[in-house]
Amino acid sequence: MTDKLILVLNCGSSSLKGAVLNNADGEVLLNCLGEKLGLEDAYITFKANGEKHKVSLEGRTDHTGAVEALMEELKSRGLDSDIAAIGHRVVSGGETYSESILIDENVIAGIEKCIPLAPLHNPANLLGIRAAQNIFKGLPNVAVFDTAFHQTLPPHAYTYALPRELYRKYGLRRYGFHGTSYRFVADEAARFLGKDKNSLRMVIAHLGNGASITAVANGKSVDTSMGLTPLEGLVMGTRSGDVDASVFSFLAENAGMDIAQITDLLNKKSGLLGISEISSDCRTIEEEAAKGEEGAVLALEMFAYRLAKYVGSMAVAAGGIDVLAFTGGIGENSDIIREKVLKYVAFLGFKLDKQANLDARFGNAGVITAAGSAAVAVVIPTNEELMIAQDTARLSGL
Ligand code: ADP
Repeated sequence: MTDKLILVLNCGSSSLKGAVLNNADGEVLLNCLGEKLGLEDAYITFKANGEKHKVSLEGRTDHTGAVEALMEELKSRGLDSDIAAIGHRVVSGGETYSESILIDENVIAGIEKCIPLAPLHNPANLLGIRAAQNIFKGLPNVAVFDTAFHQTLPPHAYTYALPRELYRKYGLRRYGFHGTSYRFVADEAARFLGKDKNSLRMVIAHLGNGASITAVANGKSVDTSMGLTPLEGLVMGTRSGDVDASVFSFLAENAGMDIAQITDLLNKKSGLLGISEISSDCRTIEEEAAKGEEGAVLALEMFAYRLAKYVGSMAVAAGGIDVLAFTGGIGENSDIIREKVLKYVAFLGFKLDKQANLDARFGNAGVITAAGSAAVAVVIPTNEELMIAQDTARLSGL
């Protein structure tokens, strides 16, 4: 290990999230968030040592412009020459990539090939890779895939009960997402509990705006709730999760909606937002539910109930359950959701420790089950950036 710096980039179609981490200890020295990329009023915000400032990207509103501005910020802080490698979050590596990889032209072609599997995300990830190659000339770039950790799913978990020709022809199968977070939390939960991850049956729930749950047995992902796209599975902020696929024909016939409108409805207008008719934000839903707002009460209960049902099914996948880990903005902060879920799955041997559940919030890890509990529930704050930085350093030979 050296005290070189690693830049981690996570590009969306109109956004760029960046972090500069010290390779020696994982400390974050700088964060940035470019927003409204592609629009006239694009800007980037830098955060370091608790201070924030905003820089306009006028005249250079694309991803390259944002990376240029980041380079200037690094120069002004005297950090530019310490950047040793760049790690990129890439959403889909399809079946091609089961682990992180040093980027060359072949890898770029491989990521391009996976565009049909992540049509919104992979092109944006590629923009970030190209921009980094142009601006941080000569530095190694590493791709870290959201799907990679789930490449260990067995065929009976990843195959849809559809004609198999569709899988052979188009790669239509379940891939799963949030893999980098699961890899981090699986390691960290085992470390935190002082156990060998290879002898644990874990179920990990990553609950953010997008939410999913994964079964990890012997350190490997064996099933997960997201599928071909991040729409499948749990109730999410604005995504429906599981619905009867006949929703498409029903809405086409009864509401005159087309495929694009229904896809938009399922991805952006459903979930907590659609049920509550108030907000997609769990914190707001909890506040409104506390006031007795009917839609918010129902949204919260549905979120917890669906999640608990999936804990049961992931316990089947893992061959039992020793540890249930919560992570992501909701998993790390919502004692209310965690309490509800543990009530539903009490029959699996979980016994909540109410005070511990309240203590494990706002970045604090902690066991939230009582001493006599047959299975352990634990809160583990995720750190995808650190995982990306560590892979990047390793593959860059740092
Ligand atoms: P993303 O998936 O965009 O990375 P996060 O992991 O940051 O999202 O999670 C965002 C979610 O976490 C939001 O629904 C937010 O309301 C929820 N959240 C954050 N803090 C709290 C809290 N104290 N109580 C309940 N929910 C919270």
